Amino acid sequence: MQKQDLGSTIVYTFDHLAKFDNILHFVSTRVGGMSDRNFSSLNVGFHVGDDNFRVLQNRRILADALGVDLLKFTFTNQCHSANVAVVNDAGRGKGALEKESALINADGMVTNVQNICLGIQIADCVPILLYDPVQQVIASLHAGWKGTLRKIVREAVSIMIQQYGSKAENILAGLGPSNGPCCYEVGDDVYREAKVTLGSLLNIIKPADRPGKYIFDQWEANIRQLKEAGVKEENIELAGVCCQCEDSSFFSSRAGNGVSGRFMAGIMLKKLRH
Ligand SMILES: [Zn+2]
Repeated sequence: MQKQDLGSTIVYTFDHLAKFDNILHFVSTRVGGMSDRNFSSLNVGFHVGDDNFRVLQNRRILADALGVDLLKFTFTNQCHSANVAVVNDAGRGKGALEKESALINADGMVTNVQNICLGIQIADCVPILLYDPVQQVIASLHAGWKGTLRKIVREAVSIMIQQYGSKAENILAGLGPSNGPCCYEVGDDVYREAKVTLGSLLNIIKPADRPGKYIFDQWEANIRQLKEAGVKEENIELAGVCCQCEDSSFFSSRAGNGVSGRFMAGIMLKKLRH
């Protein structure tokens, strides 16, 4: 990832996605917002106990810094599913100004429509952005341990292939800041479910120091699914940033003992297809 100082705030971009002029994409940080306490300062999440007015201001600060109309930001309600919504013009701006209007029952979005900024709100789960520069299709995904075990990545790639004619080998993937294998401890429940859904857990889950606890590498788990779906290894960019270790830059629910803001990852097609 590359750091971009936008003046009023700081965002990061993936190296490989930054080469394309016709998409805008970013991962936001905590810098430059109006919120305080565990939400300090650029919290974009309405659902975490912060003051709604401040969250809206924070979203405006971010949108203005990026040069995007806030009404193009689009969110799902992120219910830890593997459901990926296909977004068209009617979906633009859902969840931008209030959480109630967000697309329901989904954790991912795919579109080939311009000027819809597919957004994800993150604190520990993995934000994943996908882009097919050939068919001009984008996707944003929220992959926590549940979404990862339910294979939301596979679902998104399969929608891109079946509905938009994408070829997996053309798809670029970026995995943003999230809870890394340095910190992400899980219990027996996750281990048992992972064994059923993922099969081999080699390099994905290993025993932690504490009995009955495991370290879950949700980065590796999602990278493996991307590769299984046919995405080339060289087209997968892992930020490799743990938000719990780097909680001064990125929100981490675990670093905040369950109370924290959310940062945003977003991707948007800017120009008309040709
Ligand atoms: Zn860490």
